[in-house]
Amino acid sequence: MYNEKVIKEFTCPKNVGEIQDADGVGKVGNAKCGDIMKMYLKIEGGKITDAKFQTFGCAAAIATSSVATELIKGKTVEEALKLTNKDVVNMLDELPAQKIHCSVLAEEAIKAAIDNYRGKQK
Ligand SMILES: [Zn+2]
Repeated sequence: MYNEKVIKEFTCPKNVGEIQDADGVGKVGNAKCGDIMKMYLKIEGGKITDAKFQTFGCAAAIATSSVATELIKGKTVEEALKLTNKDVVNMLDELPAQKIHCSVLAEEAIKAAIDNYRGKQK
């Protein structure tokens, strides 16, 4: 069902964990396969300096979380907001059609964490 890249990211995901003093935290979920994704961002001077995640869900949700955190590290907040689930899927080459919604979760988690960050700035 999954290709080698997805399996690799699932078995050895990067950036798993929690950032205690995170500047932005986003939590999203989907009902389809019951995935819950929590994203933590450390943001300094408008740049994402660190990203970590805790995902309880299927292999695709964990693999996409791992890739998404890798993609946004070092990017500005604006650049990270432009990231879509397609960019995440491209990093994994492909995902089974019925698992695409799990990559959408990664996009939503980033946006939720940035929203949270921006809310705190006011
Ligand atoms: Zn899923």
